[in-house]
Amino acid sequence: MTGQNETQVDVAVVGGGPGGVFFAYMAARAGLRVHLLEAQSDFNREFRGDTLNPLALGLLEELGLISKIMELPHGTVNTLRGSGAIPYMISYSMLRSKYPYVMILSQSLFLNFMVEQAQQYPNFTLEMRSRVSGLIEENGAIQGVEYRDATGSLRTLRATLTIAADGRNSAVRKLANIETLTLTNQPDDILWMRIPMQDDLDPKEDLVTRQDATNSLFMFRRPYERDWQAGVTIIKGDYKALRAQDISVFRAQMRNLVPEFGDRLEKLEWSDVAYLPVDLKRAVQWYRDGLLLIGDSAHIMSPVGGVGINLAIRDAVVAANMLIAPLKQGAVSIEQLAQVQRKVEWDIKITQNFQASIQNASKRTAKNSFGSKIGRKMAGWFTKIPLVNSIPVRILAFGLVNVEVDTTLLAHIA
Ligand SMILES: Cc1cc2nc3c(=O)[nH]c(=O)nc-3n(C[C@H](O)[C@H](O)[C@H](O)COP(=O)(O)OP(=O)(O)OC[C@H]3O[C@@H](n4cnc5c(N)ncnc54)[C@H](O)[C@@H]3O)c2cc1C
Repeated sequence: MTGQNETQVDVAVVGGGPGGVFFAYMAARAGLRVHLLEAQSDFNREFRGDTLNPLALGLLEELGLISKIMELPHGTVNTLRGSGAIPYMISYSMLRSKYPYVMILSQSLFLNFMVEQAQQYPNFTLEMRSRVSGLIEENGAIQGVEYRDATGSLRTLRATLTIAADGRNSAVRKLANIETLTLTNQPDDILWMRIPMQDDLDPKEDLVTRQDATNSLFMFRRPYERDWQAGVTIIKGDYKALRAQDISVFRAQMRNLVPEFGDRLEKLEWSDVAYLPVDLKRAVQWYRDGLLLIGDSAHIMSPVGGVGINLAIRDAVVAANMLIAPLKQGAVSIEQLAQVQRKVEWDIKITQNFQASIQNASKRTAKNSFGSKIGRKMAGWFTKIPLVNSIPVRILAFGLVNVEVDTTLLAHIA
């Protein structure tokens, strides 16, 4: 503490999502003074996906945390199948990896777990219900943040480095006047909902994908919550008009996609349905002197392939590998922050372009530009060829940047 309402640390981390908790854990384990601020009162936040891909699982292994993670209730998915206009099958089991699958783990369990690991270190502090509302800027450099703590008091957190891990609508990014690029207009938005499980009627797969002429649906089973999380695409801009209609219109669309969920769909109300505008965005520059954006605050991915959590974790590991040593010396240069962006941004660009092309192609297909029977069959065969599949599945599973945890930086061994 430097004053009644002022604290001085090495790293201020804003946002306790996957990127923020991962960076905070690594920096705390390396012996740095870390202060994590999270706006919500707990980690049981609105649904943000429950997936950990092979890359994240490998990184958890390198940190010595994987066996504890595996003890948490979870499921696994190793094959993605689509039965729509272009049938496809993408198999994680063809990967040469110790973890050739996607782990389905409640994000709140995962975040709580990571925070508990960080809390082993006395140099780590977590403040919940603490929302950042301002940046401390001196001589053009960011020196920390201002926030309202759980009691409503305005506080100052001074830090050598501020990590903005505050998600897609990042307040810190806006406060730092960092410009974002919006990439090709996405054709769809997504509606999210939970549907209770019913063992006798449910499909056997853990992940179900369906498509009709206008909508695509994917849903995965969460046995630990006794529900299915379902996402259904709607044409961008159509939400208001759909929402203005009686819920029975939407229920009928859902029935068309998953008739076996019949009775449960009749209980859906608009209050059960969350609207997610699909965006592909990237901050032009991920840093300013004293500040680094990671995860969604630097790049919003589309839901295609479920890579957002993985990439936020990867950013955190890349940033920790590159910045822990200079932080221990007491200063991080702007060039060191730029190196973090350079290391991963090219892959983010490729992945975003890949996501945009998949979304646009599937939309064109649904509108019958590829709709002949022979065309659909050929597309089906094509996507079953292992060599063709192995390229996107590798991108989805690992990304293109080779990242390993630099454990030599981490003073304490878990
Ligand atoms: C409905 C939905 C479903 C998704 N499904 C998947 C999926 O299946 N697989 C996948 O990989 N990705 C999925 N994603 C994307 C994934 O959630 C994100 O890519 C990932 O969570 C990004 O992690 P992050 O740490 O960068 O930010 P976030 O997880 O968004 O965390 C940001 C945190 O910052 C906090 N915060 C915000 N503002 C402030 C502030 N001013 N002060 C303090 N704290 C603040 C927020 O409360 C939040 O906890 C989904 C996203 C959504 C919206």
